[in-house]
Amino acid sequence: MFGWNGKLLHVNLTKGKAVADKYEAEMAKNYLGGRGFAAKILWDTLRAGIDPLSPDNRLIFAAGPLTAFSLPSSGKLVVAAKSPLTWGYGDGNIGTLATVQMRRAGYDAVIVEGRAKDPIVLFIRDESVDFLDARNLWGLGSFETESRLAQLYGHGAGVLCIGQAGENLVKYAVIVSQEGRAGGRAGMGAVMGSKNLKAVVFLGSNELSAAYPKEMKELGSETLREVLAKPNYAFWKRQGTMSTIEWSQENSVLPTHNYSEGVFEKAEAISGFAMEKLKVSNRGCPQCNMTCGNVVKDSYRKESELDYENVAMLGSNIGLGNLKSVAALNRFADDYGLDTISLGNVLGFAMEASEKGLIDEKIPWGGFKVAEGLTKDIAYRRGHLGNLLADGVYSASEEIGRGSSHWAMHVKGLEISAYDCHTTPAMALAYGTCSIGAHHKDAWVVSWEVKTGRKGYNAAKVEKVIELQRMRGGVFECLTVCRFPWIELGFELEWYPKLLHAATGIEMSWEDLNTIGDRVFNLIRAFWVREFGKKWNTEMDVPPARWFEERLTKGPLKRTKLDRTKYDEMLQMYYRRRGWDERGVPRRTTLAKLGLRDVAQDLGRHAKMSE
Ligand code: SF4
Repeated sequence: MFGWNGKLLHVNLTKGKAVADKYEAEMAKNYLGGRGFAAKILWDTLRAGIDPLSPDNRLIFAAGPLTAFSLPSSGKLVVAAKSPLTWGYGDGNIGTLATVQMRRAGYDAVIVEGRAKDPIVLFIRDESVDFLDARNLWGLGSFETESRLAQLYGHGAGVLCIGQAGENLVKYAVIVSQEGRAGGRAGMGAVMGSKNLKAVVFLGSNELSAAYPKEMKELGSETLREVLAKPNYAFWKRQGTMSTIEWSQENSVLPTHNYSEGVFEKAEAISGFAMEKLKVSNRGCPQCNMTCGNVVKDSYRKESELDYENVAMLGSNIGLGNLKSVAALNRFADDYGLDTISLGNVLGFAMEASEKGLIDEKIPWGGFKVAEGLTKDIAYRRGHLGNLLADGVYSASEEIGRGSSHWAMHVKGLEISAYDCHTTPAMALAYGTCSIGAHHKDAWVVSWEVKTGRKGYNAAKVEKVIELQRMRGGVFECLTVCRFPWIELGFELEWYPKLLHAATGIEMSWEDLNTIGDRVFNLIRAFWVREFGKKWNTEMDVPPARWFEERLTKGPLKRTKLDRTKYDEMLQMYYRRRGWDERGVPRRTTLAKLGLRDVAQDLGRHAKMSE
């Protein structure tokens, strides 16, 4: 094989053993890598119903066939496992040197199972795998952990680690790399913590072999030049995704006060232009010349890396209009290894619960010091409230009760990311049907919807959601390349089949790639249905009641809300277009068409299926 290494590394922490093996070329062609490999491995190896925090769960690090070549934004790694937050499929991607070093060490994916007796660091250097004592690192934040490991193994080593949140099994703990690059928001950090795995360090010395090395080199230079020449490049380098704060405010989709409103009176103070005044540098993922991490000095004069999602969630969503304070909360979250989106969502929920008198604690909107203390309580599971919120907004609302599930903002247990949907039915559908729970990564349809018209609940919207889920959630996540060159700068999609051909020697059109995207999306859906069995129902694809029942009270679109009947009709339209039955379960014929006949057979043992 070219492009792919053709090798997986299986690590069993209970036994302290690691074994490399080859995988079939068919797997590479059918699933590409990254999310595709992760979904396939989890489907094949996990027994339905296992506890995600038990040694039985598999934690997967998977790269794609373009990873570690010198190509635009190709330094991403998918981290995946059964999620302790949702009990369904969970994954996320991280821009990290670990992915480059893992591929150079000779592996396309590493699969970790079992549980070490004491905390360890897994050190993978080419063929050798060491299980090193990490008791001296347990209890440290991710920044200090990584810095100590860099001193030992050099700054070129690829490090993935967890902070205190992962150790304490906070259900939205992430895996962190390079101070602020974090991924796996559905609790991949907790899965790592449950295995007593403090960090993984990769060092590789092999060159990857491309099918057409000369063409690969030329394409690499051409595409990197192409990115630099895009008209929006200079502004992107100034603000990255932060300009979305202004856009979201103008268009009434900026999550505010726990998603009760779409505009925030202090939006200007947390905007991209406000950020520019605090900015000291850019950081980014390896193999990327778009470096979109905006490094600012926070209220403690420490460096924090900002983007749209973390500023919206830790700013407007909790009513905090001071960007330096937002940056400080963001830094704490990165250091503890807490997902910033879920943290902002959970804090917003706690503030509303406090305002409504459902909890004893006084947590005012925009109260920075209280939010700072609560963030620490969550990371350490300290006190009743910290412990409760560490399990996520769904669990918290179940325990608090008294109607709070109405405004517990999640889908399938995963906290919603930073777009309010009172006025955007297609974005609500994207959240409702996303493969990990409410996340914007698969189908970021909100920008298209605002441009083309928000009012309809129609087939065009369903088509667009599916198109984006295929490409963004499917192809990009399997190739493990960043979608920003395409989405933000207009980097042409035609480049990707060319790059894939030069790397692997295999010709694939976008149609072929989209079929892979569909295969992976259906496999992940099958995973969810297999896990939930008889409990699976269409409500799992519906966003929270707040957006259907409470109107916006501010901004140009005040009085708007979603229509539940029309949403349900659009959801059924979506199921039909996907080839799923009226409960959202893939039909046998749909799975067979995608080469998943064996999946249909297995799924049929767990859930009722239609032809
Ligand atoms: S554009 Fe940003 S997120 Fe994407 S690879 Fe570059 S630095 Fe990473």
